[in-house]
Amino acid sequence: MSQSRVWHPFTQHALEPAIPEIVRTDGAYLHKADGTRILDAISSWWVVTHGHRHPHIMKAIETIAASLDQIIFAGFTHEPAERLAKALVGVAPAGLDWVFYSDSGSTSVEVALKMALGYFRNIGAPRSRIVVMEHSYHGDTIGTMSVGARGVFNAAYEPLLFEVDTIPFPAAGREQETLDRFEAVSRDRHAAALIVEPLVLGAGGMLMYPAWVLAELKKIAEASGTLLIADEVMTGWGRTGTMFACDQAAISPDILCTSKGLTGGVIPLAATLATDAIFQAHYSEDRKKTFFHSSSYTANPIACAAALANVEIWRDEPVAERIAALSGMQAAGLQRFRDNANFTDSRVTGTIAALDLHAGSAGYLAEIGPKLRAFFLERGLLVRPLGNVLYLLPPYCITGDELDGLYDAIAEAGERFGSKP
Ligand SMILES: *Cc1c(COP(=O)(O)O)cnc(C)c1O
Repeated sequence: MSQSRVWHPFTQHALEPAIPEIVRTDGAYLHKADGTRILDAISSWWVVTHGHRHPHIMKAIETIAASLDQIIFAGFTHEPAERLAKALVGVAPAGLDWVFYSDSGSTSVEVALKMALGYFRNIGAPRSRIVVMEHSYHGDTIGTMSVGARGVFNAAYEPLLFEVDTIPFPAAGREQETLDRFEAVSRDRHAAALIVEPLVLGAGGMLMYPAWVLAELKKIAEASGTLLIADEVMTGWGRTGTMFACDQAAISPDILCTSKGLTGGVIPLAATLATDAIFQAHYSEDRKKTFFHSSSYTANPIACAAALANVEIWRDEPVAERIAALSGMQAAGLQRFRDNANFTDSRVTGTIAALDLHAGSAGYLAEIGPKLRAFFLERGLLVRPLGNVLYLLPPYCITGDELDGLYDAIAEAGERFGSKP
């Protein structure tokens, strides 16, 4: 191939000259141009749920393409968007009655933040502060970087980021500090919203906290009239063992963001679900109270049809059973690392398993990251550590044997790169 003109995401081209070309995907695999295949143990960056190219979703895309492409969504509607909105209200935590479409996880979070501020302005009690959890990630736009952890990823853009209040991550044994801090920052009733990744902080290192903490955060939010935004972009669609992570805390957030697995991970689409109170605050004969947000591709019919097919798969196939089985296999797979001195903090929430490698240096830019990635790729495995954090977040079609192979490789990586303390 002649020299590529493509600038890849999160890629230091000076250090990664050879980028493999994928010519076909199916199930848990990416097939390379040279005929070899790679086991996709991170669901192609957390998007693919059932497996690559699930036939029901691919068929739905073919079918809808015979009658619809993109149409303007301001002042017009279409059946896939209407049916999908009803379906989403049906599967989401109770009380989330309105569905606003956009096209990526980041935009679904931007929409959530704008809804929160719009709500308070429109009811005549403006609030503008956003409360965030330490180590969070909510996207790469300026707004979502502002509500996410500051670090090497956004140091250059820091001057553009807005200020937020941060509550500590509820580490085991220190949960009360998180709750106390949230109580303190929400007491003056200036906080518009708390935004959290429920149960699992993904990009922050697959950090996990228990459902009761989420339930307590919701109580504190309610007491001070602070809205709770659940960013379920990664955790949604079964990743944590339930359809949404909020289900495990038996709470309904005021706003819920979903994207990645919404279409089974096939095609971009996002939705921000909101309560009727938030919709009603924008429902007015006063045009100034309109919710002023749109993306060109809002509610793309092909993407909506793919998402509807995903919902049908959840309805018609034993998805919950698959997830339960995978969750069990992940928990069992981690067992063998409990006494392995090369690793610490093995943890699992539903289908997501993670453990930290004892290496010389930690953090995302730790030299160990790229070395580990190359180590796995040589073995035909797509594992992309977050610094020294190794995690498996596979599509639900992965088999026990495939998982065993991954855990073997992780153990071997520990021998090769670990530095026992
Ligand atoms: C991936 C992710 C996002 C951003 O989604 P994009 O589609 O990449 O914009 C937001 N929040 C969480 C929790 C994510 O994991």
